[in-house]
Amino acid sequence: MSSADEETPFDAYRERVDRPLARLFRTYGRERLGWFSIGMVANFFARAASLLPPLLLGIAIDSLFLGEQSFSIPLVPDAWLPATTTAQFWFVILVIAGSFLATALFTWIYGVTANLFAHGVMHTVRVDCFEKMQALDMAFFDDKQTGEVMAVLNNDTQNLERFLDDALMNSMRLLVMTGGIAAVLFHLNRQLAVVTLLAVPAMGLFTWWFMRAVEPRYVSQRSAVGNLNTRLENSIAGIDLTKATASERFEIGRVRDASKRLFDDTMAVLKLSYLYRPGMELLAGLAFVSTFLVGGLWLTTGTAPGPLTGDLSVGDFVVFLFMTQRIVDPLAEVSNIVDQYENAKASSERVFGLMDISTGIEDPDDPTDIEPIEGHVTFEDVSFAYDSELIDGDDERVLHDISFEASPGEMVALVGPTGAGKSTALKLAMRLYDVESGSVCVDGTDVRDVRVPDLRSAIGYVGQETFLFDGTIADNIRYGSFEASDEAVREAAKAAQAHEFITELPDGYETRVGERGVKLSGGQRQRIAIARVVLADPPILILDEATSAVDTETELAIQESIERLAADRTTLAIAHRLSTIKSADEILVLEDGDIVERGDHDELLDLDGRYAALWSVQAGAVDFERRAEALAED
Ligand code: ADP
Repeated sequence: MSSADEETPFDAYRERVDRPLARLFRTYGRERLGWFSIGMVANFFARAASLLPPLLLGIAIDSLFLGEQSFSIPLVPDAWLPATTTAQFWFVILVIAGSFLATALFTWIYGVTANLFAHGVMHTVRVDCFEKMQALDMAFFDDKQTGEVMAVLNNDTQNLERFLDDALMNSMRLLVMTGGIAAVLFHLNRQLAVVTLLAVPAMGLFTWWFMRAVEPRYVSQRSAVGNLNTRLENSIAGIDLTKATASERFEIGRVRDASKRLFDDTMAVLKLSYLYRPGMELLAGLAFVSTFLVGGLWLTTGTAPGPLTGDLSVGDFVVFLFMTQRIVDPLAEVSNIVDQYENAKASSERVFGLMDISTGIEDPDDPTDIEPIEGHVTFEDVSFAYDSELIDGDDERVLHDISFEASPGEMVALVGPTGAGKSTALKLAMRLYDVESGSVCVDGTDVRDVRVPDLRSAIGYVGQETFLFDGTIADNIRYGSFEASDEAVREAAKAAQAHEFITELPDGYETRVGERGVKLSGGQRQRIAIARVVLADPPILILDEATSAVDTETELAIQESIERLAADRTTLAIAHRLSTIKSADEILVLEDGDIVERGDHDELLDLDGRYAALWSVQAGAVDFERRAEALAED
């Protein structure tokens, strides 16, 4: 299978996008049609003006220098032209100077307007892509496609910009130059024009061949770029593991392979491009040589060579040679235009591929208003599978007919082995995914009937990992409650037992954290997450207890602040240390997506089943720790 046929995970999400470039113009070009039109018109005049100097040179040679013809300019009535030779000479000089000036002025105008158009479109595309990405379900991010999304946001928008700016303007130039030159040449000498322009159909054929040959290579190259980005991103994210297992060589090898694939694919494209470009120049050179040969023979012998008839003036011959030279540049640009066109087509396919991904989790058409939320959470016969398409019997399901209820202010705890489905159940409560069957309700309303932001802002979440955005501690606590005052932030931090360590940091609440700031320990991060929730003050709390060990003192502090946080809120908690949920109103023991035991702590101990076994192991461990500590003290 060639690499072009390989499907990246991203491809699975993108539907076939029809005529992506036309869609780009429809969707984003319309509102900037003004700039686009001005740019095109200015470009037209710039190029048209640049054709005047050689044309006037030819006229000057024949009528002023050789005196063989009367002074006249195509499309201009003779009555408008000066009568004396001196005046005619100055007139020619003035028009030539004027046309250089006009070319410069119009080039400037089209440069500015074309860029306003191209960069304006790209700005909107970038923001729209990001907005779309923010709206996507967790299911999209589960596949860790952030590398692909970054490629769309950076590389693809850049490709489009290059196309909208360079390629479109160069196409216009190509049209004006070839059209204008052909018109001038045919006007001057039809027969010699045919000789000169014979190369053009050959160039067209050559270009057609090139486009067909290069397209699959471009597709492959684009996918190699995405592949390398994903690889790099993944490698950087996993650097801890790589170092810990001394697997740097392995990681370098993987990146080298991905980079080599991009190198190979790029070379495959370039090998063709570098064949194409000189090929085009060769054809243009051929046109020059045959014009020189035929025109030169015509002039030196004084009669038309071969089947040709009529006269050729020296001035016209010079114009022909100049114009043939001028045709090389825009035609050689065809390769670039094709490059940029192919790139832009692939890129806009990816842009719209991202835009077209359907979001499963959306606001209902007619949302139920549930505010103020009391916090009554019910799960009724909830079944769920991550990939609903894969369901083939009950085996693929992560949860099977789960039912439980948490009244306002109550705590329901989920315990059980990893992979039992505890986190999944909590994600369903936040509607990060939709249930496959059954229902999750808040205050008696199905979460699918509520506006998503209404639901999520009613829930506070403290997870195993706390991500800190680049910014200050205060910014991070305020994340989600952006209007909160400094005083409120402090109060929240105090309630979360975070105030003390924050004030000990170099800049207190204004200390920068996150990627480019100071590093905080897991326990400290967690207390910031708790402060964030205290500040937001939601009626429902979801806790996914960290498995990572923190020192006993920190653990106590965290435990205390969580208890305070949970006191008057409905709380769904995953616990690994059973001591933390001893007082829960109901404890559910999950195994392979089934509730195998349920009840409060005492009831479950009486049952003497799995919970009781887990408890005795952990209690034993606690005893063991205590004994070890006592021994150490002795
Ligand atoms: P727990 O929290 O009890 O450890 P989880 O709810 O995380 O269990 O996982 C339950 C099952 O669902 C596991 O088999 C896990 O592999 C699977 N799973 C978890 N998250 C995803 C996901 N994003 N995509 C597919 N499968 C998942």
